[in-house]
Amino acid sequence: MIHMDDQLKTLQSWINESSYTVAVTGAGVSVTAGIPDMQHMNIVSTLQMMSETILKAAPGRYYKGVYKGFLKAVYENGPTETHRKLAQLESVGKLQGIITTNIDCLHSIAGSENVAEIQGSFAKNTCLSCGKQYDDPYLWSHGNCPKCPECGGSLSVYPVRHRVGLYQPDVIRAREWISRAELVLVIGTNGPYGGVYYDYIRPSARIAQINPRSTAFDTLMTWRVFRVLCFSMAAFQDRVHISFFPLVASS
Ligand SMILES: [Zn+2]
Repeated sequence: MIHMDDQLKTLQSWINESSYTVAVTGAGVSVTAGIPDMQHMNIVSTLQMMSETILKAAPGRYYKGVYKGFLKAVYENGPTETHRKLAQLESVGKLQGIITTNIDCLHSIAGSENVAEIQGSFAKNTCLSCGKQYDDPYLWSHGNCPKCPECGGSLSVYPVRHRVGLYQPDVIRAREWISRAELVLVIGTNGPYGGVYYDYIRPSARIAQINPRSTAFDTLMTWRVFRVLCFSMAAFQDRVHISFFPLVASS
C-alpha cells in the first residue's frame, strides 16, 4: 500500500523549502479537459490540424476541423484543476515557471504568467502576409480563422508553421529557469524533450514526479526522485487543496 499522505507531506515540504520551483508539464495535465494527446490523435485530424496548406486554401474547413478536434475542448472545457493549481502556486510565489510541450495555451488561460511553450502554441501567431506576430491565447476562440488586424492576412500558429519545431525564445527561457531550479515538478509528461532542458537541471535539484507511469526522469539522480506511484491526475486534483498546495507560503 502506498502512503500517499506521507508522499504528499514530503512534496509539500519540498515546495515550502524551495525558493525556485519549476514545473514541467505535458499532455497528462490536459487530458481531463478532453484534449487529445497528439500521440493518440486520429492521424487524419492531426494532419489536417497541422496543414498550413489547408489553412490557407480553405480557412473555413480548417477552422471547423481544428475546432472540433482540438480547440473546442480548450475553450469550452477550459483549464483543468491542475492548470489552476499551478497558476495559484505561481501567484503566491511558490512557482517560478512552467515548461510545457502542450500547444493548448491552457496554462496561460488559467492565469499563469511565466509559461515556456517550447513547441509554441495556438497563442503564438504569425501573419502569413506581413509577418507580424500576435501572442494571444484567445485569437482562435472567435468562430473562424483569425485575420491580421494590420493587413487582413491569414494568421498561422507556430506549431503548424514550423511542423512542431522548437520555439526558441521559450526554449531559452526554459533553460534559464530550470538551471536555477531547486525543485522540479514533473507533471503529466512522459519525459525530457530531446535534452532541450533536461541537461540543464542542477545536480542538487530535487525532482518530484507526479506521473502514473515511469518516465525518463526515473534515471536522473534516482536517489532524489520522489515518484508518486500510481498517483493519478484525479487524485492529484482531489488532494491539492487539502495537503499539497495550501495557498500559504511557509514561514
Ligand atoms: Zn499582416
